[in-house]
Amino acid sequence: MAETQDKIQLLGLSAKEIAALLPDHPAYCGAQIASFLNSGAGFDEMTSLKKELRLYLQENFIANPVAVLDVFHGREGAKKYLFKLCDGNLIEGVYMPHDYGNTLCLSTQIGCRMGCKFCASGIDGLTRNLTAGEMLGQVVAVNRDNGGNAKERAVNKLVLMGSGEPFDNYDNVLKFLDAVKDENGLNISERNISLSTSGLCDKIEKFADSGHKVTLSISLHAPFDGLRSELMPVNKAFGIERLVRSARYYFEKTGRRVIFEYTLIKGKNDGDDCARQLARITSGFPSHVNLIRLNEVKENDFRAPTTDAATEFLRKLQKLGVSATVRKSLGNDIEGACGQLRRRYLHEADGDKTL
Ligand code: SAH
Ligand code: SF4
Repeated sequence: MAETQDKIQLLGLSAKEIAALLPDHPAYCGAQIASFLNSGAGFDEMTSLKKELRLYLQENFIANPVAVLDVFHGREGAKKYLFKLCDGNLIEGVYMPHDYGNTLCLSTQIGCRMGCKFCASGIDGLTRNLTAGEMLGQVVAVNRDNGGNAKERAVNKLVLMGSGEPFDNYDNVLKFLDAVKDENGLNISERNISLSTSGLCDKIEKFADSGHKVTLSISLHAPFDGLRSELMPVNKAFGIERLVRSARYYFEKTGRRVIFEYTLIKGKNDGDDCARQLARITSGFPSHVNLIRLNEVKENDFRAPTTDAATEFLRKLQKLGVSATVRKSLGNDIEGACGQLRRRYLHEADGDKTL
């Protein structure tokens, strides 16, 4: 029998690709297996297949490379998932039920190498990219855990906002988007998918040309180059002027309004000068500013402004004509900030219970 890590991951492959891996079996088995896999079934549950084929699949392939290791329940039905991958690595995702559709926030990399100063995901750098199957595996696992299957989904919306920089794993993320949008698969429409990037401008422009029209969120967080470079090293490679040009290009190519994410950090980026400059930057093409109160992490000294201060900043922006809202963060009480849960787990495993 093959070792788990040597086995081929089937999730994310098309019916045709699966059939090609099973030359001794009728071609229609490919479609049957793909449909089972998208519902989150294990090979032992694929009872409409011959027993001999089920055993062969079990010995040689992996159904879902993502296993739910733990679930933490938060306010208003939010759940934080800790997942285990075949090589033992851990990643996380957050499920948030809403009236307008249940959302899953999923990870695209194990860790991240962008080094943003306020973020827990980047502290230990990048371990590795996730495969398209490992991204799809998170969706399938959470969908199933909440009672859904491929046809009747419990997960309706996706945000690529967990650990990792999606555009630092560009090819796999595009493969994932193709797979999750597939009409014969989970069939999640791109209107219901958001991708958040720290601002890799060359990739934003390439993505604009790719034909995918998902909602693009850009993590801006500071309207001045000096401050942004201090908080987000990526700004040294692509300054704000280029970033705004790339955002406009994305809008022009896709017709989709761009979202600017702006995490409010007390005493850093919440002053009047920042509000005015932010208004200048975001005028000129359809966009929206999403304000988020910092999710405080133990590893740094950045602090969140009060809710009143965040509302005050919102009012200032709105007076300046900016379309803006403050985002409610359901994940806060369950270590919602990306990377925190995984870090706590890893440190507890090392015997460090202080996190
Ligand atoms: N790497 C991508 C997507 C994952 S991070 C990106 O940076 O856009 C998802 C969002 O969470 C980003 O807007 C990021 O800036 C924000 N974020 C990271 N750490 C945070 C924290 N401690 N508090 C609030 N937002 C945070
Ligand atoms: Fe990476 Fe995004 Fe965290 Fe920055 S905010 S370190 S890009 S995950």
